[in-house]
Amino acid sequence: MAQLSSGSPLPPETLLALDRAHVWHPYAPMPGTATPYVVESASGVRLRLAEPVAGQRELIDGMSSWWAAIHGYGHPELDEAVREQLGRMSHVMFGGLTHEPAVRLAARLVEITPEPLQHVFLADSGSVSVEVAMKMCLQYWQSIGRPGKRRLLTWRGGYHGDTFHPMSVCDPEGGMHRLWGGVLPHQLFASEPPAGFDTPLDPAYAEELATLIERHADELAAVIVEPVVQGAGGMRFHSPEYLRLLRELCDRHGVLLVFDEIATGFGRSGALFAADHAGVSPDVMCLGKALTGGYLTMAATLCTGEIADGISRGEMPVLAHGPTFMGNPLAAAVAGASIDLLLRQDWQVEVERIETGLRASLAGAVYAPGVRDVRVLGAIGVVQLDHPVDMRAATEAAAREGVWLRPFRDLIYTMPPYITGDEDLARIGTAVTAAAAAG
Ligand SMILES: *Cc1c(COP(=O)(O)O)cnc(C)c1O
Repeated sequence: MAQLSSGSPLPPETLLALDRAHVWHPYAPMPGTATPYVVESASGVRLRLAEPVAGQRELIDGMSSWWAAIHGYGHPELDEAVREQLGRMSHVMFGGLTHEPAVRLAARLVEITPEPLQHVFLADSGSVSVEVAMKMCLQYWQSIGRPGKRRLLTWRGGYHGDTFHPMSVCDPEGGMHRLWGGVLPHQLFASEPPAGFDTPLDPAYAEELATLIERHADELAAVIVEPVVQGAGGMRFHSPEYLRLLRELCDRHGVLLVFDEIATGFGRSGALFAADHAGVSPDVMCLGKALTGGYLTMAATLCTGEIADGISRGEMPVLAHGPTFMGNPLAAAVAGASIDLLLRQDWQVEVERIETGLRASLAGAVYAPGVRDVRVLGAIGVVQLDHPVDMRAATEAAAREGVWLRPFRDLIYTMPPYITGDEDLARIGTAVTAAAAAG
């Protein structure tokens, strides 16, 4: 097709036809059955569409591109960081070579995460960083002569990525476990943590965790959880008390503790890291999503000196993992700039402002028919329905209000960029409520 090689813009209908014919989208069939909105550009908190949808050419992004774009789009400082790095080099291999953006970023991550985390593996996506976290834990025990410790424990309702080992610790009720029953490693599952950030510790649940960890300590390499906020597994919040309890139990029974902060990292839940709500430090922590401010794909796995040391004294004294694009300089440079930008401002005030705004604008949704629960924590707002969402109707209802939302299952939720102004925030609230009514 002449248009493909000429570089001239594709008319929207051609673009959509090619998209449908050739391009996989997340969790989608081939050819696609839903028509995606074509985004032409993005700036601030707004996505500019190639053609109007429901009468709107611009949509306020209520999703931060899946937790990532915390500073919005086209931020001058982040653009500049990429441009500046592009002038030096966009990529070089990380085997045998190193460079300032990656070194700076790793040192900065060590500085801002809980103290015992000292070593950083820069991976190219969240799922890969979870794979690396698991490999670190299993290899640690193998190296120090406890090869039997190779299973993982988690609680239900979690999400840790789409590659195979991360899938094995995702909520087992989803289709993934049924489909991959014979393929996935068989992990241990506790019940879902009791709901509610402010709910006091439930002794019966604490007992369940204690019993499981004690009984399986000999085969458990690690407990892996999303701290405080379970994201794609169901958008649920739980008390930081359970993280303190997990830390205590893991210490008592010689089990490592992994926090997957890929969604919660960088302030989203109201603390810089969700672990900070509990004042607890994991042995391994995964970061991703907002790490680069949503500019480029990069994730990080941090671990303690003890784990690194154990691995490095083992029979195979290396961590055998090395992605081609490890430590990518462009991604590392923009990640560094995004962290600087975040920490230089009073980000906590901004996240609290969004929390207050979402509480106010979603308050009315509780009374809407079909709504089971409304919950807000930090810059995250969730409306849970008592039935599966009609995706298309809900998405269109939000678009009619000038807002981009991407509901799933029975959930309509928003985690807007931290720069979202109060008026736009109110519109997001209206759109979530409208989507709940329509969906
Ligand atoms: C998104 C997510 C992942 C997977 O990250 P990808 O970059 O999509 O591979 C893992 N864990 C959590 C908690 C996530 O939210």
